[in-house]
Amino acid sequence: MRVAVPAPLYKTFDYLVPQGLTLAPGMRVRVPFGRRQLIGLVLESPRPEATEPDGVRSYKSVSEVLDAEPLVPGDVLELCRWASSYYQHPLGEVIATALPGVLRQGGAAELKQPQFLRLTEAGRAALDTLPARARAQHALLHTLAAAPQAREDLGASAAVLRKAQQQGWVETFTAAPEPAPVTTETPPALTSEQAQALQILSADTGQDMKFSVTLLEGVTGSGKTELYLQRAADVLATGQQVLVLVPEIGLTPQLTERFARRFGADVASYHSAMPDAERTRTWLRARAGLAPVVVGTRSATFLPFRKLGLIVVDEEHDGSFKQQEGLRYSARDLAIVRARHAGIPVILGSATPALETVLNAQSGRYRHARLTRRIHSAAPLTIRQLDVRSRPLNNGISAPLLDAIGRHLAGGGQTLLFINRRGYAPVLLCHDCGWQASCTHCDARLTLHRTRGRLICHHCGAQQTIPAQCAGCGSKALMPVGQGTERVEDGLRTAFPDHRIERFDSDRMRKRGELERLLADIRSGVIHILVGTQMLAKGHDFAGLSLVGILDVDQALYGADFRALERMGQLITQVAGRAGRVGQPGEVILQTHEPNHPLLRTLLERGYSGLCEALLEQRRGTGLPPFSHLALLRAESPQQALALRFLEDARKTLPAHDALGVLGPVPAPMERLAGRYRAQILLQSASRAALQKTLAAWIPALDALASARKVRWSVDVDPLDMF
Ligand code: ADP
Ligand code: ZN
Ligand code: ZN
Repeated sequence: MRVAVPAPLYKTFDYLVPQGLTLAPGMRVRVPFGRRQLIGLVLESPRPEATEPDGVRSYKSVSEVLDAEPLVPGDVLELCRWASSYYQHPLGEVIATALPGVLRQGGAAELKQPQFLRLTEAGRAALDTLPARARAQHALLHTLAAAPQAREDLGASAAVLRKAQQQGWVETFTAAPEPAPVTTETPPALTSEQAQALQILSADTGQDMKFSVTLLEGVTGSGKTELYLQRAADVLATGQQVLVLVPEIGLTPQLTERFARRFGADVASYHSAMPDAERTRTWLRARAGLAPVVVGTRSATFLPFRKLGLIVVDEEHDGSFKQQEGLRYSARDLAIVRARHAGIPVILGSATPALETVLNAQSGRYRHARLTRRIHSAAPLTIRQLDVRSRPLNNGISAPLLDAIGRHLAGGGQTLLFINRRGYAPVLLCHDCGWQASCTHCDARLTLHRTRGRLICHHCGAQQTIPAQCAGCGSKALMPVGQGTERVEDGLRTAFPDHRIERFDSDRMRKRGELERLLADIRSGVIHILVGTQMLAKGHDFAGLSLVGILDVDQALYGADFRALERMGQLITQVAGRAGRVGQPGEVILQTHEPNHPLLRTLLERGYSGLCEALLEQRRGTGLPPFSHLALLRAESPQQALALRFLEDARKTLPAHDALGVLGPVPAPMERLAGRYRAQILLQSASRAALQKTLAAWIPALDALASARKVRWSVDVDPLDMF
């Protein structure tokens, strides 16, 4: 019988089934694997002869069967097989991606009622008698004194909980079963534009439903989410389930809440920051048909829905849908494959769709629904370009922009300044000899972080204290060059000392709950100016924002990556979309040293879709995606020669091919990262099938190369980052 085990091997394994055991595909089994025992998944029903031990003595036997019935349903197994073959990744590891940790590790697949904890009488009494130094116990009892809590939501450690239970201070109870979904909010009447879009979205649904992909293209606030809700309502009414994919964990609460407001509390989430017990619960509830709506990140694509009727991919252009390690899959693309297998519709929503998606919509493979107007704001948004050449800049901000901020503050509006770089300055330079602080492990400069008092490598995370002297000449004339969020924040504090200014980047949001707190402060209006990275560009609504300033996009104009301009266009459009208060158009100012850059002009004059047209024209000319398909074979090693040798050996084993371009081995654009040398081979083909055929014949055999054992290697099909 075939079993997939979670090991980095491109094959599955045969095991014998001891007599008397019944096994079916999708069940978990414990099997001996080398000297270990692994949990594998049965792939095929055992053939009768394989259950007979005679003559096949070289096979080992299954040690234990963990499930009484298949845990992973056939369609999910099918999806895993597809992903394994398309992304050239071992099936056992793909299956591991599809399972929450508890189930992966062999935990029971039973849907438990969630456990809640409450304070007992003794616990209440203990609140007064407990010595003050028992801090953790105090914190726990205080939390529970306020209200009972779900076990997963409690911050307390297992030891603290155990102690409190042993003392009889707290007790567990299970909550009543959750109520069935109810519609709690009345949907608004659709605008005529929305009604038209809904018609496109609803074609081929209902009785004779079939697979379709629709791009729902609309600026922020144009009512896309409302259409997701209305389509979801139709699907839920037929007893089917809905999957909503979002690119980032940070966006799940927002969308979950929106769906819950419409459909009642029974909206589940699924993402990696959830406690595993909760993830497992969502997984099992989806499988039991009990979770009508799940809002989740990438891995939710694999959830075992009992009857899936619709998939929504929100912000479909977002690069976070692509996993950058292990199974390097695109959740958006995989969602489309899943929908095709299931014969159900997919909605891809975005204000700035990826060029791949735009091309598919143009060619008619996808339907295209558009929303051009914002629901609450009459005037369309225009972006004003501000030529800052030879203008003095105060920590990156020009005088006209400072004036504009002052004007908006006086009018009671909030301002957002966008700069896609965290830290104080990207370069620390010696004014006397030109030395720059650089990372000892990477081909990269260190970013100056003043608040943390450190130089930090943004590539490998290495840190060091800020030197007082130049490492080259000993001079003390070290100066920060360029700016990041911290420096802009500093400049603003000097210019607007009486206003509350907050920085939004991953450094600032290291504490749990910080983002939520600050978002609430923005909504309530106590924060006047926000400085942030793309963290602010995504999905959040700021009703009081009247001015958006975009500080430094010029670097994207020279980006080495062929997608740099596409990303720049998306970022500018997304950030600009945050501006505008109810009933009032916002103002967007873009500072640039490149006012005549043709593609920047195209974006400002003809909008994101104008930019897409121009970029598609370029890509058609150069034969780059979406007009061709790419795969990267990467290798890395502490020794440069080893990575290259493996790739050279690999290249020699590349099967004969025609419709295929091969580049490399070449060093990666950033050759040294975290002390490892990186190199790659790029395959390119106008035919996806030809590329797939070559990869299938090539990749699984690479493990056998002697030079493979000395490097870390991986394959990336449809890579987003070329590094
Ligand atoms: P998007 O997802 O495109 O950003 P939303 O669906 O969130 O847009 O809509 C923006 C705002 O307008 C939300 O507050 C939403 O509740 C509201 N809205 C959407 N459609 C309508 C409508 N037809 N009538 C009134 N308000 C609407
Ligand atoms: Zn120097
Ligand atoms: Zn580094």
